[in-house]
Formats: sequence, C-alpha cells, structure tokens
Amino acid sequence: MVYACPHCGGRDLIPKLMFGGPLAGVDDNDGSCRCQSCGKMAVPLAFASVDDWISFRQSLLKKADEERSVPTFRHIPILPVDTKPLLSLGGVDVPIIKLAEVVSVRWDNGSLKRTEYHVSFERYWRAVAGQRYNASELLLLDLAGVNEAKPNFRVIRELVKKKHDVWLDLGIRTDQDLFDAFSMEVARALADTSTCTSMRLFQELYELSDKCVPCLQWDGRVIWGRPRAGPTDLKDAIKKLRGLGFDELAVVDMRRLGTRSGVSTDLLALLEGNDAAMVVGGGVVERDLELIEKKGFSGAFIDPFTPLIEDLFEDEGSPVETRFISPAPTDVKRPKYLATD
Ligand SMILES: [Zn+2]
Repeated sequence: MVYACPHCGGRDLIPKLMFGGPLAGVDDNDGSCRCQSCGKMAVPLAFASVDDWISFRQSLLKKADEERSVPTFRHIPILPVDTKPLLSLGGVDVPIIKLAEVVSVRWDNGSLKRTEYHVSFERYWRAVAGQRYNASELLLLDLAGVNEAKPNFRVIRELVKKKHDVWLDLGIRTDQDLFDAFSMEVARALADTSTCTSMRLFQELYELSDKCVPCLQWDGRVIWGRPRAGPTDLKDAIKKLRGLGFDELAVVDMRRLGTRSGVSTDLLALLEGNDAAMVVGGGVVERDLELIEKKGFSGAFIDPFTPLIEDLFEDEGSPVETRFISPAPTDVKRPKYLATD
C-alpha cells in the first residue's frame, strides 16, 4: 500500500497523534495526518501500487494546469491622471489621493490632451472598483509621464497603493523608465510605440521583464516616437514584436480613444486570428466587451467616463461636482485653500 495526501499527493505524512499529545491523541485518532508538502490535514488515500499513486499525481497536475489556463477576459478601465497640477503642491500636507483627478483624454495632433471631464480619483475608483462595476484591474495613465517624460512618481506611488492590479503607463522611453515602473507594485507596465524611438528599446524591455506589454498605438498606421523607429503597418509591427518574444500585446485605436464611440470593428478585423494575448482599446464601452471576448482577444481597455461609469457616480447621491467645468486643458480647478494668488 502507498499512502498519500488527498490534496496534493504528497507522501511525507505525519500522523496527527504525534502532535496531539498523549491524552488528546487517544480521542482524536481518526487516522488523519498532516501533509508536509501542502500543510493540510486529511485522512491519507491508500493506493494499491506505486503506479496508481503516480497516475493520481499526474491527474492532480493536469487539473491544476487546466485551472491555470482558463482564459479570463480582462476588462480594464483606463484612468488617465493629470499629475502636473499636483507637482506644484510639494510640501502641502494633504493626501495626494484626495487631490488627484481622473480626466478624460483625446488623441490630438500627436499627443494625449485632457478634455472637459474630470472627477476625483477616489470617486472614480469607488465607481469602477465597487460591487456593481467590479473591475479587478485598471490602467493608470500618467499624462505628465506620457506627454512630457515627467512621470510623477510621488503621485503614482500613492495611487497604485490600492489593492487591485494596476497596469501602468508612465511613458516608457528608456530601460530606466521600466525599472522605475516596477519600483512600484504594478501588475504590468505598458510601453507605448508613440514614445519609442527605436525597436532596440523593445528588445531591451523584453530582456528585462515579462511584465512589460508593448502598446501599439494606431491611427491607421502604427504611431512611433520617431520616423522609421518601427514598421507602420500594424501586422508588420505585431510580427516584429512577436519576433522579439512578446506574447502579450496591446493595440489602441488612438482616433477613438476617449470618444466612447465603441470599439473599432476595422481594427478587430485586422487583428483577428492573432495568436498573441491581445488587449484592445480605443472607444471601447462596456457593450463591446462581449464581442471582443468572442473574437478571442484577451481583454479590453475601457474608455474613461463611459455612460455606465457616469451612472455609478450618480448612484453616490450627489451630482458629479466637476463635470464640464474646465473645458480648457490649462484651466485646472484647485481647492480654495491651495490658491496662492
Ligand atoms: Zn498534501
């Protein structure tokens, strides 16, 4: 007979009697053991032969493998944060989390511009992480980092402290930026093509981390940080990045990003049949998710301020305080007590 743990198949078992003490052991003797491999208590399984035990072990491994590879579709809300106004607040003793705002964005003339919507980070967070929306991952987009190569680490660090898995886009331009991204506890760091000036960067990033995801920004052609940095044809660019080893990629239709006008079906058609784990974005609203999942994509970035998310703000009782207040990107409303003029 071969005895093994029913949970993990481990054979390093210690009878419970041995730590029950001489008196406790008598009444507690139900034949259970502690497995030294997985630490669980159980009555051991008895196998007639070693072969039987081996096939049991193999069935456990197979089961674990299957559970691990169940594809879970990621729906990842984008939270663009304009950290620039917060840079000037150094020394002010107010929690950053209270001041940071999620803003809406548009791709305009080669850069991401914030537009009229903004709401406190806390409020946006409560809406998307709450029970009704139930996002378990989010994409934090640091506009100062992406547009001006000035990531605001102090602010980002505060914002990623939340328990959920954060995908971070801080505008990676060098391998040092990747180290900076992972000095915070992020699940994934996005590396945009629009801030990449050479394919070499992606090569370096791939060697450094398997949690770096190239983000192909596309407006009919792939947008690179410099002419001829990489292929402008989407399929060619994907092929190139796959060739470097990346098996997880993101593709965002920049013309639709922030428009909440629905996912680009042209883009989906162009990407179909790809064998990489691919997250798509640009105009994506919640009603697109079913289609995107059905087409075999691994996930989607959801545009900021979709009607559904706005409804969740309303649910909180008071109307959203800051909507439509500052149409100009420069007009940033500050709390009164911080005004200096
Ligand atoms: Zn065990």
